[in-house]
Amino acid sequence: MSKMTELIDQAEQDLLHTYNRFQVVFDHGEGVRLYDTEGKEYLDFCAGIAVHALGYGNEEYKSALKDQIDKITHTSNYYYNEPAIKAAASLKEITGLDRVFFTNSGAEAIEGAIKTARKYAYLKDGTTDHEIVAMEHSFHGRTMGALSITGTKSYRDPFLPMIGNIKYADYNDLESVKEKISDKTCAIVLETVQGEGGIHPADKDFIKGIREICNEKDILMILDEIQCGMGRSGKMFAYEHYGVKPDIVTLAKGLGCGVPVGAFLMTEKVADNSLKAGDHGTTYGGNPFATAAINAVLDQFKKLSVLKNVNEVGDYLEKKLLELKERYSCIKDVRGLGLIRGIEFDQDIKASDLCGKALEKGLVVVSASGNVMRLVPPLVIKKEHVDEMVKKLEECLNS
Ligand SMILES: *Cc1c(COP(=O)(O)O)cnc(C)c1O
Repeated sequence: MSKMTELIDQAEQDLLHTYNRFQVVFDHGEGVRLYDTEGKEYLDFCAGIAVHALGYGNEEYKSALKDQIDKITHTSNYYYNEPAIKAAASLKEITGLDRVFFTNSGAEAIEGAIKTARKYAYLKDGTTDHEIVAMEHSFHGRTMGALSITGTKSYRDPFLPMIGNIKYADYNDLESVKEKISDKTCAIVLETVQGEGGIHPADKDFIKGIREICNEKDILMILDEIQCGMGRSGKMFAYEHYGVKPDIVTLAKGLGCGVPVGAFLMTEKVADNSLKAGDHGTTYGGNPFATAAINAVLDQFKKLSVLKNVNEVGDYLEKKLLELKERYSCIKDVRGLGLIRGIEFDQDIKASDLCGKALEKGLVVVSASGNVMRLVPPLVIKKEHVDEMVKKLEECLNS
């Protein structure tokens, strides 16, 4: 038995089986490539699901983390620390929002956003039956609050009851959102580009319409940019494509490029009228190690002109995917922005089966909903990697 098979057998005895994992143990990465424990090389178009924006082995990122380990990794939120102060100032600048709370994951950022919205509404009228409008086919995470606003019934049903007073509207259907709004609505929450739901960017009218409704009724607009944010769409945050600003934004995934860290940010108005000392907290959130990672990531984004690369290579990827669609009738649609792209196949094609085949051919990709393949590579890939990916994908489609 190979070492890899042994490891997988061991894993299946010990780990809770909450994932049907692909039969590979990754060992290390270099640039945009991954290597398994047998030494086999893979081209990575998954990036740990939109996490490794900088790819693998960025020297300055690594040495910033090592330096921080030598200094201190954790204090407590009872005290200040310099990396967090710096990261907060940077995030304010790039989001255009005013106050930051650091978390350890995306789901926790969502939990914080929900609490902020509820407290904001509570301080206005003193009642406790406020509602949130979320979207069908959305994904916001697996904790109870995040799950409650996740628009996939099968994810929620075994864990009922959810947190109360959530209504689900249809994405990109403003009338459906209007129908769900009542005097009790405190927030509308959506992904600027739906990720898990199959890579669906919001329509301009939809986002702008929601912004108008929120302005008119003093409802908080929460944009979940955990997957599509941090440069992935070609702008630092996808909402910049729409000329709107949310009241609250949630971030994670690419934010730490592998160090578990998330954040939610809000306007000064929301901050002044919501969470106060004692209302929210976290042991690890915003610790100097995690926030040093954010600082190193943002530093590298500037130095490597990551956004410029996303736009150039993203346009090229779009062109190549459209050509692929012309050649293969099983491809129904290709869509997305920058370096978050989806390939929708015929209903009877399971995207995860194709991902398994791709893995055999040395290409790492994941699915998003049943028949959509999701491409969320490191943001530092080059055009030649797109060509290589297309070639491998064609081999899978031909077989
Ligand atoms: C991944 C994801 C989350 C959840 O993040 P975790 O870090 O897994 O908790 C929430 N929202 C969106 C849009 C995501 O893609």
